[in-house]
Amino acid sequence: MTNEQRTPPSKIEVEASIYDHRTFREDLFWQQIPAWENISEEQFGDHTWQSKNSIKTPKDLVKVLGDRLDPDFLEDMTQGLEITPMNVRMTPYVFALIDWDNPLDDPLRKQFLPVASQFLPDHPFKAEDSLGEDTDSPVNMLTHRYPDKVLFLPLTTCPVYCSYCTRSRVIGGSTSSMKKSSYGAKSGQWDEVFDYIRQNPEVEDVVISGGDSFNLRPEQITQIGETLLAIPHIRRFRYATKGIAILPMKILTDDKWYNALLDVVKKGREMGKQVFIHTHFSSPREITIWNKRAMDKLFQDGIIVRNQAVLQQGVNLSKEEMICLTRKLSYMNVQPYYVYQHDMVPGVEHFRTTIKEHMQLSKEVRGVTAGFNTPMFTCDLPGGGGKRPINSYEYYDQVHGISAWTAPLVKPGELFFYFDPIHKLAPAVQELWATNEGRSSMLREVIKQVDAVGTEYDKGKLEQKVNDLLESCQISNTNKF
Ligand SMILES: *Cc1c(COP(=O)(O)O)cnc(C)c1O
Ligand code: SF4
Repeated sequence: MTNEQRTPPSKIEVEASIYDHRTFREDLFWQQIPAWENISEEQFGDHTWQSKNSIKTPKDLVKVLGDRLDPDFLEDMTQGLEITPMNVRMTPYVFALIDWDNPLDDPLRKQFLPVASQFLPDHPFKAEDSLGEDTDSPVNMLTHRYPDKVLFLPLTTCPVYCSYCTRSRVIGGSTSSMKKSSYGAKSGQWDEVFDYIRQNPEVEDVVISGGDSFNLRPEQITQIGETLLAIPHIRRFRYATKGIAILPMKILTDDKWYNALLDVVKKGREMGKQVFIHTHFSSPREITIWNKRAMDKLFQDGIIVRNQAVLQQGVNLSKEEMICLTRKLSYMNVQPYYVYQHDMVPGVEHFRTTIKEHMQLSKEVRGVTAGFNTPMFTCDLPGGGGKRPINSYEYYDQVHGISAWTAPLVKPGELFFYFDPIHKLAPAVQELWATNEGRSSMLREVIKQVDAVGTEYDKGKLEQKVNDLLESCQISNTNKF
């Protein structure tokens, strides 16, 4: 029904864009890719075809795009592979959604295909394990930061690789700029994790992340699910997968995997325990009828799906994109759960936004739909303070791009900092950021202001942290790009 047909007229003045999220792309868009001109809908919808035809190298690009590939873009990508900490891997589904007439500006291309021309020098205070997941890890593959929930990383592979991954230190294979020890899913190696959870009765909630649960075999979905369900104090857990966004065909055609998941959900429900999926859509451009079909199936089977997105320049940092994403996810029964401030890991500076931009967006989105479908705009604090609402800092120096935070429950007495991307600050401030003296004096000034507003924290711990920060960036002064 359109707006004009309504009597009496709506009390609210609605813009035409309020209906944008209700249309889902249904065309045979992949047939515009030269190599896939004759691929039928049935073949494209087969998850094994998708996996087999994944795009991983510049050679693959040449092979599938043929004449449509701009040689300058190819060169840019080839050089980008020398810089990026992440491998490239894209399903044909995501690859075909990229606008190949203008790949540089495409939000999907930006997320999965890094090019040299886009990279900016890393922030001096970036860290490979920015969230301190390894520091808060009691046993291998497990992080225990919050009292009643743990993060379990049973594998470090994914069906696609995001070039901004917060766990680039372990996810996917090594690259020219980052050596890593990745691991596939090996059922025999998880006993220590299960034992730890069994021995810690305060834990009620497990996040099964990675890596991506789409890469767990059906028996492993069952093994992890049944082992956790059998632990009396476990009340809920979530399988994390970006799959619904980038390989929805698996939900639709991989019956073994899907039924393994569904069995765990059903068993959980019989036992009074909740089993969810958490997924990762970033922009409304990524959502087509394929995702909707996958969601319809999950919804009919009673599987609850929530979304976690990262706020990124050039991908979703606009009121229109974020509002449309929120509505579109709600429309297909995905609950928008978190929008994260970008983590301060290597190779992501071109994506990062300021806290100020993030707060502005959060104000613009609030009220757009049901409160329970409005995401929590969040900063996961560098150094392991955990997730905090974006406007809950103790003090924010917007000029120098430094915010100071506390996390009273997770890390009492500690002060945390987040740093805005330097290229967004005034030229004179950028100069201050170029030297250790400048960095030190800006940090000390912010600490004075934190004291002035009366925030309480452990001064000895903070001194150690400031020294560590300044020392770490002296090493990374040799930053190569
Ligand atoms: C995000 C996260 C969780 C889960 O937090 P929720 O707010 O419940 O989504 C648990 N442990 C760690 C270490 C995390 O980073
Ligand atoms: S799907 Fe998740 S874990 Fe995998 S590369 Fe992307 S952000 Fe990282």
